[in-house]
Amino acid sequence: MKQKRREPVEFSVSHEQREMMRSIAEMVRREIVPVLDRHPKSQALPKSELHRIFGLFAEQLLLAPRLPADEGGPGIDLVDYGMIFEQIPPVISMSMLSQDACIARLYADCSPEQRERFLPGLVSGEAIGCTGSTEPDTGSDPRGIKTRARRDGDTVVINGHKMWITNVSVCDLILVTCLDESAPKDGPPKVIKVVVEREHSPFEAKEIDAIGLKQGFLGEAVFEECRVPASNIVEADSGTKILNESWSLNRVLVALQAVYMAQHAFDQALEYAGIRHQFGKPIAAHQLVQKNLSDIQTAITTSRLLCYQTLWMMDQKQDTSGAAAMTKRYAQNACQDAVWQAMNILGAMGLSEEAGIEQLYRDIRMLAIPDGTNEILALIHGRFLTNLEAFRGVNPKSR
Ligand SMILES: Cc1cc2nc3c(=O)[nH]c(=O)nc-3n(C[C@H](O)[C@H](O)[C@H](O)COP(=O)(O)OP(=O)(O)OC[C@H]3O[C@@H](n4cnc5c(N)ncnc54)[C@H](O)[C@@H]3O)c2cc1C
Repeated sequence: MKQKRREPVEFSVSHEQREMMRSIAEMVRREIVPVLDRHPKSQALPKSELHRIFGLFAEQLLLAPRLPADEGGPGIDLVDYGMIFEQIPPVISMSMLSQDACIARLYADCSPEQRERFLPGLVSGEAIGCTGSTEPDTGSDPRGIKTRARRDGDTVVINGHKMWITNVSVCDLILVTCLDESAPKDGPPKVIKVVVEREHSPFEAKEIDAIGLKQGFLGEAVFEECRVPASNIVEADSGTKILNESWSLNRVLVALQAVYMAQHAFDQALEYAGIRHQFGKPIAAHQLVQKNLSDIQTAITTSRLLCYQTLWMMDQKQDTSGAAAMTKRYAQNACQDAVWQAMNILGAMGLSEEAGIEQLYRDIRMLAIPDGTNEILALIHGRFLTNLEAFRGVNPKSR
């Protein structure tokens, strides 16, 4: 009997998925691009614009992709969410990622009463949220945090400095990681998370001027005797499995931001190569330019495939700690090279602010750091492959 041939892997995009991407891309073109165009390229957008844009996504429940449908989430696969996310300019999708990560952490660890207090405002986009772990002296190794929470009756008092926090300058609510000063002194340090609502517990926050994503929100916050109701302490800790899953999704979404940037640079380079003439023909007709275009598209395609494969694995509930680390490190590197190559195809024009590729080049550099630097991601992937931990070497002083 002749057997029907079965494809080992399904790569087709359904009609519904195509329509979904088309409608998000259309919304971006209509509602977001004009906002980015009418504000200065070198400074954070006004909060009111972020609010309005968040409102548009909230209508489709897209600020909370990780929430189950019966808890106010959109109830879509992560592959589908990735397709949506890839259409959104990273300066905005970075803020959405921060909002979504904040919602996911609160959902995982909050009591039902806390969920009811904090989640609706974040899911509807009325409140802007963020998560604060990084500090001036503490980045990749979160064990070094110094921000402290002191219990005082029915309040908790926070002192510390958080840095490189997406959305913090415009946030209404921040989930702050602190050391619990009330933990027994002779035991191991106890880490707790506290929800700080800015309206009731004001703190200072400002933007940090960085190389890229300048219209986005990346800032620092100082907590000085910041009093928060003790009922805002997030007591539960959902544990490393949920935390790792959350990091893994963040990593793939950042990888998709790299894909977005490289794709935009490629589109521009391909068009330019067709109209720019040198040596009597379009530069696209020169063999080395074709090779460079081929290299760029290879980088984009491989990165995109890795992203969707890892999202698909997540949808199948597979362990993606290694795959997600590999995806982000590969995509960020490959797409950064691709943007550089695309810039080169525009010659001197590629360096001009007018062409806009230089902005993509600066923006993509930002992606090498959040949710795991490339070195840390290599170590996470290595740990997955070998089952051996390489993070913490021998302390030179202990030799
Ligand atoms: C765009 C952006 C958004 C961010 N958003 C947030 C946010 O919302 N919330 C938040 O809390 N933080 C956020 N961060 C901070 C980010 O998580 C940290 O910057 C990151 O964890 C790295 O920490 P660090 O910058 O202190 O670098 P460090 O940890 O000091 O690392 C410095 C260098 O040492 C290397 N290194 C460190 N340890 C090792 C090791 N064991 N082996 C080999 N190399 C090593 C690193 O790879 C890096 O090259 C954001 C950062 C950026 C750029």
